[in-house]
Amino acid sequence: MLKSIATVSVSGMLKDKLTAIAHAGFAGVEIFESDLLASPYPASDIGAMIRDLGLVCTALQPLECFEGMPAHLRERAFARAERRFEVVRELGADLLIVTSNVDPESLGHRDRIADDLRELGQRAAARGLRVGYEALAWGKYVSDHRDAWSIVQKVDHPAVGLVLDSFGTLKGGGPLQSLRSIDVAKILHVQIADAPDLPTSAEWLSRHFRCMPGQGDLAVVDFAAVVQDLGYDGAVSLEIFNDHFRSAPTEGIALDGMRSLTYLFEQLERSRRRRSLPIADARIGCQNVEFFEFCASNDEAPRLEQMLRKMGFVPTDRHRRKAVTRWRQGEINLIINCESEGFAPKFRSAHGASVCAIGLRVDDPHAALERASKLSISTYSQDVGPGEFRIPAVVGVGNSLLYFVSAAFATPMWDTEFLPVNEQADHSGVGLRWVDHFTQVMSDKEMPSWLLFYLSLFESTKVAATEVAEPAGLTLSQALQSASGRLRIVLNEPESDQTLASRFLNSYGGAGLQQIAFATDDILLTAKKMRALGMEVLAIPCNYYAHIGAEFGLDDQALQRMKEFNILYDRDATGEYFHIYTRAFAKRFFFEIVERRGYNGYGFANSAIKYGAQSQFRNQPPQA
Ligand code: MG
Repeated sequence: MLKSIATVSVSGMLKDKLTAIAHAGFAGVEIFESDLLASPYPASDIGAMIRDLGLVCTALQPLECFEGMPAHLRERAFARAERRFEVVRELGADLLIVTSNVDPESLGHRDRIADDLRELGQRAAARGLRVGYEALAWGKYVSDHRDAWSIVQKVDHPAVGLVLDSFGTLKGGGPLQSLRSIDVAKILHVQIADAPDLPTSAEWLSRHFRCMPGQGDLAVVDFAAVVQDLGYDGAVSLEIFNDHFRSAPTEGIALDGMRSLTYLFEQLERSRRRRSLPIADARIGCQNVEFFEFCASNDEAPRLEQMLRKMGFVPTDRHRRKAVTRWRQGEINLIINCESEGFAPKFRSAHGASVCAIGLRVDDPHAALERASKLSISTYSQDVGPGEFRIPAVVGVGNSLLYFVSAAFATPMWDTEFLPVNEQADHSGVGLRWVDHFTQVMSDKEMPSWLLFYLSLFESTKVAATEVAEPAGLTLSQALQSASGRLRIVLNEPESDQTLASRFLNSYGGAGLQQIAFATDDILLTAKKMRALGMEVLAIPCNYYAHIGAEFGLDDQALQRMKEFNILYDRDATGEYFHIYTRAFAKRFFFEIVERRGYNGYGFANSAIKYGAQSQFRNQPPQA
């Protein structure tokens, strides 16, 4: 199948769109008429541009409000169609997409609709062209692919076929299995779009919230698998109407589109091969977070180190030639980088003390890098000294780095590049075992892109997004996690400009990591030990404990202990979740301590409590 994209899916002027679409690696492009009308270039020049860029024009769309118009408007409808045919030829294409009529004046008589499309087919055939008929979910008389297919059968003309659109089928109500009755020879074009599960009309959702496959909640893979099973081998064209994408950088959205289709085609291949020779998931299996690297100035580092000490971390190693220290507890490695040259200080000058890199443990770091390259994800190569390791890395959220480290590589990397500073150090600390999850904050424009980044790169699945009410607005939380639960990432998107997440974006200077959650087996013991070390945690209002006591039927003694140590609680069908938040470091990032008892969520039910408590803290002086 040929990878195509409609020009409406990306921002900019038509020439820029075509260039970005070609650079992203698409083979085909579907021209949206309004892009052509806004362009200073005649259609024939656009056709030449498309060919020069190595693309094929898969279709021109749409011809709207054509079929079944009253007699006095019929001639005008055909005149409009004839003009589109001219343009299709000038573009070097052979397909005009006609969308089902939404005009209130249109007539619903099916013989009349079929007659109009048959005559249109005759006129198209005379020019060597074809007509694809597409049902709009909000069409006045033809609103799903079953209607459109029955019309195309009635038309019975070799130049008239069907255009399928995943959004139209999946939101229009036509069951997927009904696609199987369609003659594949009559499917002239297939459009692909995903969409979030929002309670709004199909038309509103389609015009404003369509998104790339994988970014939304529709069963796009199931739709495409049925089309593939039919034997369809033509163009598969992204048709994404999205308000954010229209104002996002052209190149980035085109790359997202190609990334989503690459991932979709891989899923289709696995679906096709499932019955014969199963093939592995092409995505990277991530075992856990190997390390976080903090960049900090010499002024900030002592304060950060003090905070880590109060959480039970100890410095264990120092880099042989750099001002870089490794802190450990359980399986957790934290690196504090105070270098004055290289990536870390540049990152620090942009954001202040913050997490500039995350190391992820994977089976094969070089295969991971190849996977990233296949998805057009930017790779990063750091300067290394003699005898040092070059760790495969890619550019992630907010230009931070994601390093890929294998189990076999990790020990020699630490042993070779670092010298022990305290070989007797006990790094059992306060009982923190490993990284449970981390949270990155990003704007609403960036969220779909980073979601697709993680989803297509790592073996992971999305968890249903949750809206959380803060004191000054809403924040959307979207989690994704691996099957083992050892890679868990939460993406937060502020939905108003006064939320804490929004203030983070402003003060931090863009998207970045805001929270790291560490796992413990005994949160009460960890809390006691942290208190003994002088660690200050987020104070939780007393109303909360009265509430959860009643809500979950917790006994008074347990409740009293949780209240004493500011432990939050959640419970669902999977188990129980206990968690504590620290105060933020420099109002920039903070830590969460979690104990999971079978629970598979993220305590989102308590997010409003957390945000409220953080708001209370905001005007108090930061901890020493
Ligand atoms: Mg469509």
